[in-house]
Amino acid sequence: MKALLDLLYPPTCLVCRKRLEQAEDRLCPDCRSQISRPEGEHCRKCGSPVKGSYCEACADFHYSFKLCRSAYQYGDVVKQLVHALKYEELLGAGDILAEGMQEYCSTHKSFEDYDAVIPVPLHRVRKRERGYNQSEHLARKLASRLGIPCSNAVTRPHYTSSQTRLGRTERSKNLSGAFRVRNPKSIRDKKIILVDDVFTTGSTVNEISKLLLDNGAKQVAVMTAARA
Ligand SMILES: [Zn+2]
Ligand SMILES: [Zn+2]
Repeated sequence: MKALLDLLYPPTCLVCRKRLEQAEDRLCPDCRSQISRPEGEHCRKCGSPVKGSYCEACADFHYSFKLCRSAYQYGDVVKQLVHALKYEELLGAGDILAEGMQEYCSTHKSFEDYDAVIPVPLHRVRKRERGYNQSEHLARKLASRLGIPCSNAVTRPHYTSSQTRLGRTERSKNLSGAFRVRNPKSIRDKKIILVDDVFTTGSTVNEISKLLLDNGAKQVAVMTAARA
């Protein structure tokens, strides 16, 4: 049956569409060789590549989360996987990203003993436009691979305009009040892994971390698939 399916629908690389020997590979050797972990020295707090212990941003800014790490460098192949997940709903692309996230969490002490995974939520209007929330897919996959629950305790009841043109202070103002904790009891004293697809300025994950801690969470660590 499987052989017949492979004959009818030859498996191709998720990124470059080259023929694959086995469907399970999902990426051709060439594309796979181009995805890499962040290497070298990085900021202890936010994970940005930097010489020394802390980056410039963290030296004069206090993020609410304990730390933030990303599974992959934002190279061309990873960029295409993120895009495929976000805009084409290519779940296989998300699975590859989530695998990397889980491998990171499982091999680093700083991600030990967490109680739950929570995705950065999308406002329902935007979710309707796009069809689904890519961060939720990553969070679900990560949670199930780590064997802990994925919670939808954080909601986004307020629509916020695009963040891309705003500076840090404006972003924070724009986001303040955008999120809500549905059931504070469910996060009380819990250590939470907050999940997003790409870390850019950290404003959104910072705002949600603050909200989770204000509502009784014990600790928040941020895990993203990639870092812009
Ligand atoms: Zn390829
Ligand atoms: Zn930093």
